[in-house]
Amino acid sequence: MNKKTAYPTSLFLKMLKEDGVEEVYLASGLPKNQSLPGKAISADQDKSAGSPALLDLQAKALQCTLCKELAAKRKNVVFGSGSTQARLMFVGEAPGHDEDDQGLPFVGQAGQLLTKIIESIGLTREQVYIANVLKCRPPGNRQPQPEEILNCEPYLKRQIELIQPKIICALGAFAAQTLLKTDTPISRLRGKFYDQGNLKVICTYHPAYLLRNPGEKRTVWEDMKMIKKELENFE
Ligand code: SF4
Repeated sequence: MNKKTAYPTSLFLKMLKEDGVEEVYLASGLPKNQSLPGKAISADQDKSAGSPALLDLQAKALQCTLCKELAAKRKNVVFGSGSTQARLMFVGEAPGHDEDDQGLPFVGQAGQLLTKIIESIGLTREQVYIANVLKCRPPGNRQPQPEEILNCEPYLKRQIELIQPKIICALGAFAAQTLLKTDTPISRLRGKFYDQGNLKVICTYHPAYLLRNPGEKRTVWEDMKMIKKELENFE
């Protein structure tokens, strides 16, 4: 689908336009015969929807106290949200203040930008699955500690096993390096697919980084176009 269209006034698309991007893909502009990845569920369902195994996993995470400091200071465990049958999954670093407050991933300013990024390839948040490496907020938004990543990684691994996405987009260095088991900088990891068994991982900049560095918006757009093209193989 290479449909030329008028630009919505969303932040991300506006930024893309300013940078000379001529094509975008709108959720509302999908051809009738084009199937969408995943089965959508409503936003108010998404905290509890899923297979029994996923619900069990969520219940375990909600009780988890493996990271003593995070468990003591969190308001909510932010397990994940979206379609449990999604073909595309986004994985970020950890909840921030707004996410901890609401118990949902990517709901702050960076989350709003992620929504626009998802919409830029013709999807909605309800058609993808969104989670983080850490399910609990590091106090003061400090960086996740290695032992916290080790503690929480089994939850993410099991989420991936149960949802079975075809593509995972790692948002930012922590997610990319955790998923790919590397310490290579995100700038060198992005822009290509990595085969991981039955799925592919692609890495791009975290939306929070993009807010601070709008000059990288075009780079993220290039990564999103690769995802869009790859998803067409699964339609
Ligand atoms: S971050 Fe993960 S492992 Fe640590 S307490 Fe929260 S749910 Fe448990």
